[in-house]
Amino acid sequence: MEEYRPQLLVVDDELGMREGIRRIFTLEGYDVTVAENGTEGLEKGAAKEFDVALIDLKMPDIDGLTVLRQLKEVYPDTEYMMITAFAGIDTAVEATRHGAYTYIPKPFTPDQIVFEVNRALGKRRLTLETRELRAEQRRRLLEISQEKSRLRTIINAVSDALFVTNLEDEIVLANPQTRALFEFPASIAAGDRISDLLPPEVIALIREAQEKAPHGIELISHEWEMKPNLELFVNMKTAPVRDPAGDIIGFVTTIQDVTQLKRLDAQKSQFVSMVAHELKAPVAAVSGYLETMNSRVLGDDVGSYERMIVRSGERLQALIDLVNDLLNISRRELGTVRREIAAVRVEEVVESTRELLHGEMEKRGIAWKAEFDDALPTIDIDRDEFSRVLTNLVSNAIKYNREKGSIAVRAKREDGVVSIAIRDRGIGMKPEDRELLFRQFYRIKNDETRAIPGTGLGLSIVKQIVESYHGNITVESTWGEGSTFTLRLPIRFTGEG
Ligand code: ADP
Repeated sequence: MEEYRPQLLVVDDELGMREGIRRIFTLEGYDVTVAENGTEGLEKGAAKEFDVALIDLKMPDIDGLTVLRQLKEVYPDTEYMMITAFAGIDTAVEATRHGAYTYIPKPFTPDQIVFEVNRALGKRRLTLETRELRAEQRRRLLEISQEKSRLRTIINAVSDALFVTNLEDEIVLANPQTRALFEFPASIAAGDRISDLLPPEVIALIREAQEKAPHGIELISHEWEMKPNLELFVNMKTAPVRDPAGDIIGFVTTIQDVTQLKRLDAQKSQFVSMVAHELKAPVAAVSGYLETMNSRVLGDDVGSYERMIVRSGERLQALIDLVNDLLNISRRELGTVRREIAAVRVEEVVESTRELLHGEMEKRGIAWKAEFDDALPTIDIDRDEFSRVLTNLVSNAIKYNREKGSIAVRAKREDGVVSIAIRDRGIGMKPEDRELLFRQFYRIKNDETRAIPGTGLGLSIVKQIVESYHGNITVESTWGEGSTFTLRLPIRFTGEG
């Protein structure tokens, strides 16, 4: 790298002096710029930053003091030295008050001036270093504060509650999720103690981490039911924070809300136990019939054998229905149901549902009526799913009807949807049951329904399908008079819900 040449400005109206100084300092390795009067001095001195400026105090146009003052305003860190005749010493002293570094009385020897200027240059270097340091410091501070705000942004973006404690058990950092979870007062300050802010369960976790971290255990985690009955369940983790030397300087704790997972877990277990129960009943019944028939207690009573065989067949059919419903639910949950969305005519699917269930209706003497708005639009739906929904609802309307009852289907266009109401004149239901109908395995139990076979899954499947099209299903019913299930399905498909 080319060596840096100190920049020297000489402002002097005396040619001999100017050129003399130029010669001396060029030999000394300076880069010398000369100006022959005050005006030129101001001009050249303001054009760039010099390390040292030598200014003659007495010049014909603008005096040295004025030049000093003006240049000082532009470049305050340049070292200004005044050259003065002996008679001008007073002014030179005044110049130092205006920020000149020093003054050199004329006449002087080359050694003297070299000595003085070098000294000024030394001071100038110190000034520059300080200036550089300060700039560096400012940059660092800026970086740190940017780093901090970046860190804060990241921490705040974490959906878990996250906070950091130091070895004095003070909270030094906490994201808003932490504040919300533990209902911290609005202004928690760094230095607030964990014992005042956190519940004992969390403190115990941090204590455990404090004990175990020195032995190399880096992560402590516990589950905690913060609010009973699966209202709030959290997973807490604490890990030590170490400095670059590896010493522990604090602990970071995260608290994740796992309520939803826990609920799903509980639902799954409940589902499995319900399924097991539902599967067991028909299997046990058929097994009982077989045992009875095998034990020959029936002797020659052929009629009894026949009845048991028929009952076994019915129970097995119910079992097959159940298994089919379960398969359908699991396919739906696994997302392996393949859909073909197309414009489907409601009239056509209602009619084919009637045909499918015609035999059942005839057996019970149930009258059927279907009415459609003129110019009913088609709906975007998978035909098989739509058909499954209608079959479930109409089949219920038959099952829970009375002998010689009736079913009326009415399809209308409403705002963006087609509504299809399926009304029966059957047994109806009580208000408290209406809420629960759509749950898996829910069956209303009373004298009227006891003998009617079913899985309790049909309506839950219907609801799931309807909602996946952003539609809905509602029920109105009067106990002893009948029920009306109303489907509302969007005309246009807008993506799976
Ligand atoms: P199921 O296989 O028992 O019919 P669903 O899920 O289809 O299962 O229906 C759940 C329960 O809702 C039924 O057990 C029945 O008690 C009641 N239910 C459904 N449809 C009707 C209806 N049209 N009238 C009266 N009760 C009904």
